[in-house]
Amino acid sequence: MALTGIQIMKMLPKKNCGECNVPTCLAFAMKVAAGQADIGDCPYVSDEVKEKVGEASAPPIRTVKLGSGDHVFQVGGETCLYRHEKRFEHPTGIAVRIATDMDDADIAGRLERFRTLRYDRVGVLLKADLVAVQDAGGDEAAFTALVERVRSECPDAALVLMSDSPAVLAAGAKACGDHVPLLYAATPENADQMLETAKAAGCPLAVRGATIGETAALAERLAAEVKDLVLDTGARTLRAAFEDQVAARRSAIRTKYRPLGFPTITFPCEMTDDPEVEAMVASVLVAKYAGIVVLSDLQGDTLFPLLLERLNLFTDPQRPMVVQEDVYPINGPDENSPVLVTCNFSLTYFIVSGEVEGSKVPSWLLIKDTEGLSVLTAWAAGKFSADLIAGFVKKSAIADKVKHRNLIIPGYLASIKGELEEELPDWNIQIGPREASHLPAFLREWQPN
Ligand code: SF4
Repeated sequence: MALTGIQIMKMLPKKNCGECNVPTCLAFAMKVAAGQADIGDCPYVSDEVKEKVGEASAPPIRTVKLGSGDHVFQVGGETCLYRHEKRFEHPTGIAVRIATDMDDADIAGRLERFRTLRYDRVGVLLKADLVAVQDAGGDEAAFTALVERVRSECPDAALVLMSDSPAVLAAGAKACGDHVPLLYAATPENADQMLETAKAAGCPLAVRGATIGETAALAERLAAEVKDLVLDTGARTLRAAFEDQVAARRSAIRTKYRPLGFPTITFPCEMTDDPEVEAMVASVLVAKYAGIVVLSDLQGDTLFPLLLERLNLFTDPQRPMVVQEDVYPINGPDENSPVLVTCNFSLTYFIVSGEVEGSKVPSWLLIKDTEGLSVLTAWAAGKFSADLIAGFVKKSAIADKVKHRNLIIPGYLASIKGELEEELPDWNIQIGPREASHLPAFLREWQPN
């Protein structure tokens, strides 16, 4: 049962010292209750309190970590059914499967696509996350060699090690070193051996039943000894997988049913032979509510839409994506280059900067902090008004970088030109185009006054 902020407050030392980076113990308690701070951030609470609050404030779906160092992949930690209720925490992991019985060229191609199919979008790197390495014949040496190859060629990939043999999984886990893999999978037939293997290797363990009920029963038994589990409900059709994902999430969130309170792994690669249908199945499971989707291959035309879907679902709806307030030089500007100003909504920044870059006109782009609001919204909210823009222009010291005094404002803000000229009497305010796509032509013809 989750604790309230007041209940947590009663367990704090009430020093109001601020060492937790929150001014008061009460504010800290409220943040812990809301899942926005960790009880361990207060250096004065006892281990007993940490354990008590930690357990009570644990998300209904456990967070499972794979990987190591800078390459940690997290899955689970979800606290809601619908994104607008709070936010989704950890994006669905996208995995590509390779197997010991594949041709070398097939493996090399998949690993190369894992490394190269990466996209920079609104400042976020979009890419696949995991490689699922499957043991096709119980050959321990071939399996460990393949695991080592993945570690060498794709060092940032989290790994799912797949075998029916506990011994083969143990050897694979050893080949991973400190890069923690997910061991797949404990079944009703091999659960005890898999449990010992996972405990010995210190790795999370996947649990696979023939049905969601069997999976939950097995998870309940194993969770007493291995805390980090990942569930495979055994579904291998879209309909069954969709129903299981929804049932598992609802049970964990709504009724706090612990045996289903773990992230899930799904296998679109086993549901169809058609790559486009596979991508469509994966897109459904990314939305509802797979922790990991395992694909048969990675291709740009299907991976990119999946990554975009995931980006859209897993951004925090309460926090607009922002870029830092700053002066951004584009195309190597100098003292005669145009100066543009816009807001710090990241989509605006990346569209505007992309058009300026594409124009090949050296330019200075001033990004004003509007708390992530777009141009018109920020203006309407009083966060992109003439006085605030003027204050930022002065603070940015752009006047030291250019000889001219021309400032290009977004076309949608034409109405503040007069006010801005009063605020910045030394500057000539120029009205830029309304649409970013018209910027290249505008900049190529631009002349300082
Ligand atoms: Fe209170 Fe602990 Fe934060 Fe200090 S560090 S304000 S004692 S919660």
